[in-house]
Amino acid sequence: MFELELNGQQRMLKDALADLGKNVVRPQSLSWDRKKDIDPEFLRTFYGMSQALKGDANPMEDFQEGPKHRDTSKPSQANRTAAIGAEELAWADASIMLSLPGAGLGGPPLRGSGTPEQRERFFGIFRDMTDELKWGAYGLTEPGAGSDVAAIRTSCRKDGDAYVLNGRKCYITNGARASWVVIFATVDASLGRAGHRAFVVERGTPGFSVGKIEEKMGLRANETAELVLEDCRVPVENLLGGEEKYTSKEGFMTAMKTFDNTRPLVAAMAIGIGRAAYEYAADFVKDNYVLSRPIPRYAAIAERLARVGRRLEAARMLTWKAVWMADHYLPNAKEASMSKALAGQAAIAACIDAIEICGAHGTLSEDHALLEKWFRDIKVYDIFEGTGQIQRIVISKRLISDLRGF
Ligand SMILES: Cc1cc2nc3c(=O)[nH]c(=O)nc-3n(C[C@H](O)[C@H](O)[C@H](O)COP(=O)(O)OP(=O)(O)OC[C@H]3O[C@@H](n4cnc5c(N)ncnc54)[C@H](O)[C@@H]3O)c2cc1C
Repeated sequence: MFELELNGQQRMLKDALADLGKNVVRPQSLSWDRKKDIDPEFLRTFYGMSQALKGDANPMEDFQEGPKHRDTSKPSQANRTAAIGAEELAWADASIMLSLPGAGLGGPPLRGSGTPEQRERFFGIFRDMTDELKWGAYGLTEPGAGSDVAAIRTSCRKDGDAYVLNGRKCYITNGARASWVVIFATVDASLGRAGHRAFVVERGTPGFSVGKIEEKMGLRANETAELVLEDCRVPVENLLGGEEKYTSKEGFMTAMKTFDNTRPLVAAMAIGIGRAAYEYAADFVKDNYVLSRPIPRYAAIAERLARVGRRLEAARMLTWKAVWMADHYLPNAKEASMSKALAGQAAIAACIDAIEICGAHGTLSEDHALLEKWFRDIKVYDIFEGTGQIQRIVISKRLISDLRGF
């Protein structure tokens, strides 16, 4: 039975993160956005604080690595806990959520498809970050291959004890600072998905370099980089899962399985930003209007707030269902896409409505610029990890195949 109740540890974690977000992160959020960077010392301190919350429930680690226990008779809480943490941290500042040290989006494919040796080797570097913060990243998108994942052109050719990679990856979150990146390439583009391979490419490998760092509309304090592979020799041991794993469409499945775990967490982040805007607008209304007055204008504002709140709550329920399914090892591709499609739209609407509800005040961009920042930050949540249109295609395909089953 799908459970909605948080356990005691999750409630404690949510409260602790909310407190940290409100008192420590939020006050600095606008200055990072203007600087387009997060002070490394702050990141280090924040990382230390997050470690203090460590236990079974560690949203940063769970988000980055996915569930640790694969025993299907013992459901995990890792995805649910990660969703709760992701919402709270994005409520505080989505750029810091995405900039946290650790494996990041590179974690799920490594955990899902890596051999035990590869997991130990590449996750192992994050165990000690006393002297240096470290990141992992996920490199799938290319110019000309975003939504159409099967169209990637980065090539890999086996040569002795290495694969030689050539191509470009774009819009890679934390790509320039990453110690390693899971790079998707193809042995033969004409094979489509069956030709895909996933490699862990380490920073410093000859032929692997950083191209431009993108200037973005939102999430400006989080790094988004272009990566270049020019005759880059990647050792065979870095082929994710080993060669035997690629007898079918495993390379592509690695990318897709990642999305089933990460899309609900992206949805949770969107809900966090949407909730931030909603709460801001609700406070503004409380301070400036008496909603019980029988004047149509007030009723219209109350109805708008109710619609925003209702849609965010619905998106959270779908998200929690998707993570509950992941924690119970149930196939959740449809629910993962549903949660992301709804959360992205609900949170964008929340940010727009919040600005409109606040009237002229909502357009200010000095002391009150958080509304403006959230408005810029939120749009990409309906684009990365699969656009809204792509989610709706995934959902409709799954719905139709479910119907055929009747
Ligand atoms: C801030 C940021 C961070 C990112 N981080 C990463 C990362 O870490 N790693 C990574 O690999 N990628 C990352 N991305 C890339 C992201 O996943 C892609 O931008 C996204 O998948 C969309 O691809 P695209 O930009 O090429 O758009 P396109 O695929 O070209 O789509 C353009 C438009 O066409 C629509 N469209 C495309 N195909 C169809 C279709 N079949 N039917 C209907 N409509 C369609 C889309 O919905 C969209 O509206 C990031 C992007 C951003 C902006």
